[in-house]
Amino acid sequence: MSQSSSEPLSIELLRDLAAASRILASQGVVDGFGHVSMRHPTNPNRYFMSCSKPPALVTPEDILEYDLDSVAIEPQGRKSFLERFIHGEIYKARPDIGSVVHSHSPSVVPFGLVRVKMQAMFHNAAFLAKEPPIFDISEKFGDTDMLVGDIPKGVELAQVMGPRDVVMMRAHGSVACGPTLQTAVFRAVYTEVNARIQHMSLALAQGQPIAALSAKEGELADEVNQGAGLRAWDLWRTQVRDELHW
Ligand SMILES: [Zn+2]
Repeated sequence: MSQSSSEPLSIELLRDLAAASRILASQGVVDGFGHVSMRHPTNPNRYFMSCSKPPALVTPEDILEYDLDSVAIEPQGRKSFLERFIHGEIYKARPDIGSVVHSHSPSVVPFGLVRVKMQAMFHNAAFLAKEPPIFDISEKFGDTDMLVGDIPKGVELAQVMGPRDVVMMRAHGSVACGPTLQTAVFRAVYTEVNARIQHMSLALAQGQPIAALSAKEGELADEVNQGAGLRAWDLWRTQVRDELHW
């Protein structure tokens, strides 16, 4: 396949992906770090992600195209995120996934440090009823800088995530995925919100059991969230459009 065989992304989709970065920043999921990507709509062997810059500052002009080894197609001097391999290797392992968000959102980090499983505390976080696993980079790679900075680390992360949509990363952050950009952003936002609710519930419970969603409840509620529940995206996307006119 030649390097330029893919159709360019439409301006609307470039704007949506740039808006997703800003939405994740405004919702407290990403700060100076973190990133969101989207698989190419017609070439599953490519994905799009912004060049390395703070998510709240991303514009449509910052979006680069990558192959699944996370090599930028036409970087034109722009730098790539060090942890882009998270995205490329998940796209390779999971053909059903169309968008990936990586963040270090603070309420989620404790669930990678302490052996308390994250559970789905409410219907918006139904996707968490599959109980996200923890990727501990030291298990396979020993002492590292903690970053998923090459293909082998990305492969291992994708393997630990398996068929689930969220994975915790020990002493680092988390990854949330979905079939669409809108669903991945929704899941990243509600993973952080769910973590806050679980911290509150654990404090309130004082050792009593927590009545989280069952696996079946999670499955049923997640189906609804992927349709009607996505009005949250409409709200967030409209706010970016009103502010920036794109
Ligand atoms: Zn990271």
